[in-house]
Amino acid sequence: MDKDEIFELIDQLYAQAKMQFGNAIKSRWFYDRDGCPGCGRKIKEMKWKGQKALSLNAFIYREHGVLIAYLLCGKCAKHIFERSEVDPNAPTEVHGEIEKNLKNAFVKHLGH
Ligand SMILES: [Zn+2]
Repeated sequence: MDKDEIFELIDQLYAQAKMQFGNAIKSRWFYDRDGCPGCGRKIKEMKWKGQKALSLNAFIYREHGVLIAYLLCGKCAKHIFERSEVDPNAPTEVHGEIEKNLKNAFVKHLGH
């Protein structure tokens, strides 16, 4: 997956979020730093159904009306995936950590 493909996917996620939440979503932002927002490890491509894949995720930072897209390392992606299989509605601890890190990064990016 290269940058163009990632941005294409983010466009799709953004369009979906707009349809779902309407004007509550005002912008999108891609967290493109090195390192996983869950654990700080370097992100490598992981194998997914025999193909190389990166785990692209997104969440909505409601206070700012922004869809934040981010990549996870294989370990965090796997952890979240496994937890969601057990109970799809249970937020994981990793999620909480990731969202905290992403929110901090976004607010810094705004220059506040
Ligand atoms: Zn990680």
